[in-house]
Amino acid sequence: MKPILMLILDGVPDRPIRGTTPLKSAFTPNLDELAKRGVSGIMDPIAPGIRPGSDTAHLSLLGYDPRRFYPGRGPFEAAGVGIYVGENDVALRCNFATLKNGIVLDRRAGRIRDAVELEKAINEAVDLDVDFIFKSSTGHRAVLVLKGGDTKLSPKISDTDVKVGEGSKVSKALERSEVAERTAMIVNDFVRRSEEILRDHSLNEERMRSGKLPANTILLRGAGSVPKLKTMREKYGIKPAIIAGIRLIQGVGRICGMDLIPTEGATGRMDTNVRNKLGNAVSLLRDYDFVLVNIKGADEAGHDGDFEAKRDFIERIDESLSVLTGLDDAILAITADHSTPCSVKGHSADPVPVTLVGEPVRTDEVNEYDEFSAPKGGLNRIRGLDLMPSLLDLAGKAEKFGA
Ligand code: ZN
Ligand code: ZN
Repeated sequence: MKPILMLILDGVPDRPIRGTTPLKSAFTPNLDELAKRGVSGIMDPIAPGIRPGSDTAHLSLLGYDPRRFYPGRGPFEAAGVGIYVGENDVALRCNFATLKNGIVLDRRAGRIRDAVELEKAINEAVDLDVDFIFKSSTGHRAVLVLKGGDTKLSPKISDTDVKVGEGSKVSKALERSEVAERTAMIVNDFVRRSEEILRDHSLNEERMRSGKLPANTILLRGAGSVPKLKTMREKYGIKPAIIAGIRLIQGVGRICGMDLIPTEGATGRMDTNVRNKLGNAVSLLRDYDFVLVNIKGADEAGHDGDFEAKRDFIERIDESLSVLTGLDDAILAITADHSTPCSVKGHSADPVPVTLVGEPVRTDEVNEYDEFSAPKGGLNRIRGLDLMPSLLDLAGKAEKFGA
């Protein structure tokens, strides 16, 4: 089979502002060249009208129906930081945050960059009814895994996460069961005890002295137990790898049995090293049948509602894409996991452009890669779940259905 490269431009698609989008207004000669050579269309990452998360969308693009397999975000985040989540465990996503007089002042604790010291202090001093692993992830993010062991735990508990300006919340059981009630209690215990440690921690005192917000609480959400998924090797008979700066996407890859390839300078933020990521991906095609590359920065700009920053980042991605225009013996997909419109400052359900490039594709008339040109292409409108089968077929790996 030909190797497949799936390039996910995370959150790049947008809605028009004064008739244009960051992608349409960006100078993108390489993307346009690829659109010209390929076949384009639009894709509903999950289904029309469903606003995807990055995790559910990636599952879908890898051919796993998120409506059947989605375990909540916690387990992906945990897998992404290398924590093995067992069958009886419950994993939650955490944010270091800033609380003032019981009100959440900042959900990211002033975008704290390095919380390893806080992680250590909490692990040393907090004692719960069950064993747990608490690990800081990217920036203000962290993961809590409650180890069930012999005791039963339930992921059916509510988030403690709230909006800025709201009072902090406790976790509650979402079903009438002793197990869920107990799990919620353990989570609340964890928060209370962590707050005691964080309040007096020297790193926070230091932050306050330099005018930064202290990380004095932890917000938890996305409780989940790990799903049993067939690996991509079992499902498709291929050897897959993933390059992604953020833990959540790394976790999706890990749970689907993909090899995680670290790339220097891949941060998941706007300062991420796109050129390294793509160069690395292309050389991996020698050893792997399938490589997924996620480039995250534009999503961040979309969440910030920053049209210019998003456009500039897209131009930076494009500069690094020259390495893909030289690829001849591979199948290439260029798409996104969802739209992150600047006007929404979040994800929307709008379909995303998708372009497939490779020698066997039926080229169409589309010469530009953007939200307005893609719908005129030969792929028409597909779903995220259609992408993998389409790629495998082009790569010569699809099984015949029927006689
Ligand atoms: Zn995303
Ligand atoms: Zn996003």
